Amino acid sequence: MGKQQSRDTRAGISHVKNLLPLMKSALPEDLLQLLELTGRIASEHSARAFIVGGVVRDILLGRESLDIDVVIEGDAMAVAEELAPHAVNKPVFNRAFATATIPLQDGFHIDVATARTETYDVPGALPKVSPATIEADLRRRDFTINCACASLAPQTFGEILDPHNALQDIEIGLINVLHDKSFVDDPTRIIRGIKYANRFKFVLDDTTLELAEDAICDGCFRTISPHRLTDELRILFVEEMPWGAIWDLAQLSILTSISPYLSLAHNALPILRRIEGIESKLHGAFPDDYRKWLVRLLLFMGNVPASELASTLDVFDLDRNEASIVEQFVTRGKDIASKLEGLDRAKDGELYELFSDILAEAGVVIVAMRRSKAGDRAFERYWSALSKVRLEIGGQEIKSMGLEEGPMIGKILGHLLMAKINGEIQGKDAELALARELVSRAKERLEEDRS
Ligand code: ATP
Ligand code: MG
Repeated sequence: MGKQQSRDTRAGISHVKNLLPLMKSALPEDLLQLLELTGRIASEHSARAFIVGGVVRDILLGRESLDIDVVIEGDAMAVAEELAPHAVNKPVFNRAFATATIPLQDGFHIDVATARTETYDVPGALPKVSPATIEADLRRRDFTINCACASLAPQTFGEILDPHNALQDIEIGLINVLHDKSFVDDPTRIIRGIKYANRFKFVLDDTTLELAEDAICDGCFRTISPHRLTDELRILFVEEMPWGAIWDLAQLSILTSISPYLSLAHNALPILRRIEGIESKLHGAFPDDYRKWLVRLLLFMGNVPASELASTLDVFDLDRNEASIVEQFVTRGKDIASKLEGLDRAKDGELYELFSDILAEAGVVIVAMRRSKAGDRAFERYWSALSKVRLEIGGQEIKSMGLEEGPMIGKILGHLLMAKINGEIQGKDAELALARELVSRAKERLEEDRS
């Protein structure tokens, strides 16, 4: 499907009354049929079905949307049960929340949910949920652009229901909240707003922007859980062109409102460009779980002192490896950066020792920040070649030379690897020969210690 439409080509969106013609060109035939079936099943259960939110917005904008949100005014679980046989993989039912996900061909999936209201007891907390009408369901949503829906009922298939003038805002490219307390209820919506503004090249309406600024000033981000904040940032930072989003986060002081140390690096744009350069060159060489989003977040951590590491980690919800990346960057970044210039004359073994000791994500940012040609070359050499070097022999061979299980085996393997990386040995025979020599020296030392 096509790229983002310009303002001119969005003209007329606000006049669309029935989505069916656009659905026909946007969705595969069998998916359209499944949506028709969904509408029929809902009717049989005296319920009403709608597609809603992002999918409606994306169909109007001519963008692909794999994620088809269906809201049922009525018994969503009963409808989902009947759709389940059409899934290509096992459907996922979450009965406590009355939602189900039906995976389909080509990455599409239908998310079925019961129309509901959400009320917030405490700002920033998770909402209390109760079944409701479609109109009430639309009122709980984040932005007008996300709250148009289209009927799936047989008699009215495709008819648009747009009580909040979503289509008009989509046409002019404006992001509006539905009510003044929206960001106080859920500050993650501010990050979502930044995401949509940058993704669609839309702007935040003046009032919405002021509400966001006021909520941030009042400390709204201190009320949300590390988990929700981190989830939203994870999504934001893997958007296609994240610079605008990074800039908006900084302009709105979102992270500095949580901790004064989380400020954007002053030359973040050229650093990000260098990061992107390194990533496009080395992406095949990096580990499969390379966390692009965290690399972007590190752009906000260049001023975190080592003494604030723990408090910084508390702001986010990171797994062990992610926390290690932050720790390496914060506590060792400057030291590693200072060594980069000298690496032109270093042996491969030295490069290996430096870069194998930090995770790729921390390395990328440290190298991109330093701007050293020698550092760039060394980092590339490590990831494209040295990190892939493996010994042909293993612990088993060392043991069979008569050494007992223990840390000495690991040490010998490390020594062998370094010799291989430095080009001192090549091939299995050479590895075995050096291993024998090292084992016999180790045994001699053990003998001496014993006597
Ligand atoms: P994307 O293309 O990024 O997936 P989307 O609009 O589909 O955009 P989702 O995060 O998949 O967004 O959420 C689906 C819908 O749920 C949104 O369109 C929005 O109406 C609603 N929604 C999601 N998060 C919130 C929130 N924090 N507050 C209110 N409504 C929300
Ligand atoms: Mg979605």
